[in-house]
Amino acid sequence: MPIPASFCPDLMGCLSQGAAGNPTVAMVEAAFAHHGIHGRYVNMEVPPEKLADAVKGLRAVGFRGFNLSMPHKVAVIPLLDGLGESAAAIGAVNCVVRRGDQLIGENTDGKGFLRSLADITDPKGKTVVLFGAGGAARAVAVELALAGVGRFVLVNRSAERGRQLLDTLVGKLHCRAELLPWNGDFALPDGTDIVINGTSIGLYDPEARLPLDTSTLRPGQIVADVVFSPPVTRLLRDAKDRGCIPLDGLSMLVNQGVLGVQYWTGVLPDAAVMHRALAAAMGV
Ligand code: NDP
Repeated sequence: MPIPASFCPDLMGCLSQGAAGNPTVAMVEAAFAHHGIHGRYVNMEVPPEKLADAVKGLRAVGFRGFNLSMPHKVAVIPLLDGLGESAAAIGAVNCVVRRGDQLIGENTDGKGFLRSLADITDPKGKTVVLFGAGGAARAVAVELALAGVGRFVLVNRSAERGRQLLDTLVGKLHCRAELLPWNGDFALPDGTDIVINGTSIGLYDPEARLPLDTSTLRPGQIVADVVFSPPVTRLLRDAKDRGCIPLDGLSMLVNQGVLGVQYWTGVLPDAAVMHRALAAAMGV
């Protein structure tokens, strides 16, 4: 009996480097299983010099889309047919979506953050203090700007990278923003509504300390961390102790996955199912 052509699943995946045990595979495939989606999501190790060939191959075999992890998020741009609005402003793509015969680059990192934040507050008109100006911080900042944040205070170790993000927010997105120096423990300005660690400080180190004067944290402020491993960073523990509302990077990671599945399949997946699968795969 011949196997019908429709037996071939819809293909999606992640082009990564050095992420052989990528836990997002379990997260996305749990969504497929839960919603009866006939798809597969695979992790593919691709060195930078092979990225162009890999994208050509995924195009040829009809992948519905794929994620990219560092260092591919910027290098992939010239290989695509177009960019979504925020991906263009961020200057990085973490999610490619096939629309017709075109591969369009989106950025779901910042959108995932925004989705998590939306469970707690509407950022419109709020004052945000953002530490970091790398890929994750840029993605978060651009989405927050598009969502109508009132004022940004940017804080980054390297002034040059901080200025680049300031230029994007002020020059391209017409936001109110300033870049402040980071010498020692940063004191939050009065009126701060949302504090975000967009740096990699705390990644794989539960005791790593963001240079922040925690006595300036106020009860009721939202304190978010993009770091997802460990899910509860030192910053989030300190924030909770000071009566703030913590928001972890794991929910941002889940929500970027939710958006990816929705882009590729049209199904809005159950975030709780994906969260459970991701946490189990990470052993947290
Ligand atoms: P980048 O390398 O692009 O940026 C790193 C940022 O951290 C820069 O702003 C850098 O400052 C700053 N930084 C690093 N070390 C220090 C330090 N010791 N002191 C002060 N600043 C420091 O990385 P990404 O933006 O891609 O990733 C940042 C974090 O976000 C990682 O932990 C990553 O895992 C996480 N992430 C989480 C996602 C999620 O879904 N939860 C999605 C994507 C990323 P400088 O500019 O001076 O070098």
